[in-house]
Amino acid sequence: MIASELSFLVIEDDDFQRDVIVSVLSNLGAMQIAEARTGTEALNFLNDTRSTLIDIILCDLNMPEMDGMEFLRHIGSSHPSIATIIMSALDIALIDSVRKMAGAYGIYLLGTIEKPITPARLETLINIYKSRDLKQRKEISNGSRYTLGEILEGLTGGEFTPFFQPKVKLSTGRVIGAEALARWIHPGRGVITPYEFIDVLEKSGNIDILTFLMLEKSAKACKLIHAQGHEISISVNLSLTSLTDTNLADKITRVVSESGLDPKFIILEITETAAMTEMAPALENLARLRMKGFGLSIDDYGTGYSSMQQISRIAFTELKIDQSFVREMTTSNVSKVLINSSIEMATKLQMKCTAEGIETENDWEQLKNMNCDLGQGYYIAKPMNFDEFLEFCSENLVHHGTV
Ligand code: C2E
Ligand code: MG
Ligand code: MG
Repeated sequence: MIASELSFLVIEDDDFQRDVIVSVLSNLGAMQIAEARTGTEALNFLNDTRSTLIDIILCDLNMPEMDGMEFLRHIGSSHPSIATIIMSALDIALIDSVRKMAGAYGIYLLGTIEKPITPARLETLINIYKSRDLKQRKEISNGSRYTLGEILEGLTGGEFTPFFQPKVKLSTGRVIGAEALARWIHPGRGVITPYEFIDVLEKSGNIDILTFLMLEKSAKACKLIHAQGHEISISVNLSLTSLTDTNLADKITRVVSESGLDPKFIILEITETAAMTEMAPALENLARLRMKGFGLSIDDYGTGYSSMQQISRIAFTELKIDQSFVREMTTSNVSKVLINSSIEMATKLQMKCTAEGIETENDWEQLKNMNCDLGQGYYIAKPMNFDEFLEFCSENLVHHGTV
């Protein structure tokens, strides 16, 4: 039973509704279910030593005395590690804004459920909890902090390599390229993901070592794949901090040309951010890179600060819709509308539009119907090493539902 090893706290002022939720949980196998009628009662319970036992809180929004919003604020400051599910009969736009608020308060929000709650939706959220929880446990057992010294040693020791995550044309399922994602193959600790080292490298001014390693290896990989008859392109992530060096564009051009690859097969992904303080050198670099033929992609579109301004200033060739919008597409009308207008905008500006984080057949189908060109995500394939990617390319088509 999915919920059997987890413990829950249900906060709901209406006795009947609380009973319904408790019985849905029991039917999913839950054996430890605590109940509270008000936010205060719940907080008292959590501040008790027993709180360490609670895995997931299910919280109503509209309650007398202390409403769900206030309760969430307290949870954010005193119990941020407990997962939370918000239940409400209120309209979706409001639930959506509470969701954003929860994020801002640092709450580990699993999701929201419209009332009346259904076992299926609850099961989905519990599954998310289980998979995330597992991932976190893995990260902890990997040891999540590395010193700059260790990372640099790994870099010079040749332990870093790109993994490739395929990008496909949504209308046909054809593989048209891949994003190169940095992985540290640690001799003792296995595969380490970018969150463990990008920040440290950026803050210490060492990110270019990784950038050039990724560019060189990606260009070589791309050449090899072309030699097998698959004319794909590879996307490489560029840190904004690198763009302040006005020589960057020339250095990148040199590295790619030395591998014998035409720059048009390399797409540079840039994440929009508020921290783009040194705007002039960044614009110079990007203009030069575009002139040399590189593709320029605006990454994680929609999460940054000055999207429209950036789009009007930089000659982007691709727009990548952030995976958070794709994840919410089926539950949030706002996300769906934003995706739709991003696709429309990209099309009008003759940019390719890529959706990130495609995790289900339904995601693919919906995005295809919205005329999104390209897709990337676990449903298509997870990032993989070069040999696996080469094999993936020779299969060429990703088989999918109706295509
Ligand atoms: P990103 O550029 O937005 O890359 C996409 C991230 O989403 C990757 O995480 C990828 O594994 C993950 N992803 C792909 N499909 C799915 C999906 O269906 N569901 C979910 N939940 N996730 C999916 P990864 O590899 O951990 O990379 C994280 C970030 O680290 C990247 O985000 C990128 O910003 C940064 N990064 C990766 N490699 C480099 C690099 O060489 N240089 C720099 N500067 N940054 C890099
Ligand atoms: Mg990227
Ligand atoms: Mg992205």
